[in-house]
Amino acid sequence: MKYAKLIIVFLLITLNLFANNDTINVLIDLNQVDSLGLKVNVYPPTDLKGNVTYKFPKSIPGIYEYLHNHNTMIRLHQNDKKISCIDNSFLIQCDSFSYSAKSSVNIYTGVSAEDTYYFKDSIYILNWHYLLGFFNNETDIPFKIKIIKNDRLFGSSSLDKLTLNDTIDIYTASNYKDLVHSPLLYCIPDTASFQIGGSNFHVSCAGDDTLLNAQEIKNLLTVPLKELLKHSDYKHDDYTFLYFSKYAINAPGLRALEHPNSTLVCYHSTLLDNNILIGSSIHEYIHAIYAPLRIRSEIINDFNFINPTCDEFLWFYEGVTEYLSIKTLLDSKFFSNEDFINEIKLSDEYSKDFNFSTTSQNTYSKKGQKLYDNFYTTGSLFALQLDLEIIRKSDGKKNLFDIMNELQNKYSSEQPFNSTTFLDELSIVTGIDKSFLKTSTEKKIKIDFTKLVNDIGYSYATVKYDTMVYSYSPKKTHNIVNFKKNKLEIGFFGSILNKELKARKVIISEINGEPINWFNRDFVTTPTSDNELKLLVSFGDKEQIITSKPSLISRVRKKTVWTKNENYNTDLLKLFWNE
Ligand SMILES: [Zn+2]
Repeated sequence: MKYAKLIIVFLLITLNLFANNDTINVLIDLNQVDSLGLKVNVYPPTDLKGNVTYKFPKSIPGIYEYLHNHNTMIRLHQNDKKISCIDNSFLIQCDSFSYSAKSSVNIYTGVSAEDTYYFKDSIYILNWHYLLGFFNNETDIPFKIKIIKNDRLFGSSSLDKLTLNDTIDIYTASNYKDLVHSPLLYCIPDTASFQIGGSNFHVSCAGDDTLLNAQEIKNLLTVPLKELLKHSDYKHDDYTFLYFSKYAINAPGLRALEHPNSTLVCYHSTLLDNNILIGSSIHEYIHAIYAPLRIRSEIINDFNFINPTCDEFLWFYEGVTEYLSIKTLLDSKFFSNEDFINEIKLSDEYSKDFNFSTTSQNTYSKKGQKLYDNFYTTGSLFALQLDLEIIRKSDGKKNLFDIMNELQNKYSSEQPFNSTTFLDELSIVTGIDKSFLKTSTEKKIKIDFTKLVNDIGYSYATVKYDTMVYSYSPKKTHNIVNFKKNKLEIGFFGSILNKELKARKVIISEINGEPINWFNRDFVTTPTSDNELKLLVSFGDKEQIITSKPSLISRVRKKTVWTKNENYNTDLLKLFWNE
């Protein structure tokens, strides 16, 4: 009887699913994935007639760059005819149609949190902007997506979900923006859930990370999240942390992307420590409770999927978020004082003279893309300045978290701030002079790092020290010229190669019989033992196998030594350092 009842429910819902005339209905069978990709079946709203455009976005909120070209990923046929993709758009007859959507992951360049990836019967990362489009530039139409899968797989996302039976799930999204903000992860379940003060959190892990599982990540996340939520009135009914880690993909470190009710974090566990994994997860969650997912301008709020534009506040969205994430790790004792200032110092090392406003507005240009990292580095230094100013002006009663909480109460996705008056407002809520905010964000600035650390109670000196390292040549320094795809190009690779090959530049394609990749290349570039390496090298049009043996040599290195100064013991800085 139970079985029969299930079938009746299923039929009713299936009929209902394909009867709604103002909904885009979708059917994806996860078992149907081959070399062309994942098969996607689309049923347009029944009130659409004739020729229509089916369009994919140029970009999505949060990545501030262009997506891969859909032309290379979507193969769409209608009435036995291949439809070409022009400017991310397909001109089709408005009738049901299907296409194959290729995975966007390139195993050489790695996996990003906006990618799609399918590993048949095991892992499916479904980022909708590479799988589904919208009709005639209309992004407000709802979606219903039926997923057929094998019974061992479990789907995690922030979409509303209806599970019909072991092999069928149905998801709904109220519009295209909600859809692309809800990546879906199918995998053999490794999940954990927990609650902190009225917010419900879920962790779902996929891949072959042998170091961390959902339970361990949950344990690592709990303390910093508790600390952060002391400064947030907003409660999440459900927020999901999705993690993907796979050895076979050359993920260079970690990539994560924020969404209002979830984040997807793609990483390689051998290349990073827990501080980076947890710090990045907290960074993405801060986006969800503060900016830009709740506190943002009308420009970001009405995100233009066809011609993406950005306002002048990327420093606020990324710099403030980055700063608050490392401050959260400090406040929750995940970071020591020195870990915290070392992070700040790293930001200074990668910081350039920089105009926040104009670069932010031009972020989708080629030049803007090159300067993008400065929103994190220079941006987090500026956020530290703001935090100190707020503490000073309020005589220790408020800090930057409190200001973000005030703004969080005022703004939301229904109520964006006005980009033309936001600096005035920020000046009023923080008590910081408008002229300081204007100069710092609208003129080219370089933040005085020595003064900044002095203001937080530290002085520093750079000291040299001797250490022993493995190297190929005591005198010549090797330097990596290029690492692209499966080739490592090295100049001055020690005396052995230079002498033997009479070449100043060689290309290595194999190491100890294995193709070179992100992981084994470290044996060559920074050897940690004197084990002999067998390398397949090419120079000019010649190719040969040579052996190379690192030797232990003395090297001078530099490190920063931090000492507390007289400022450290002032009452306001004691508040800052939680003492
Ligand atoms: Zn971010």
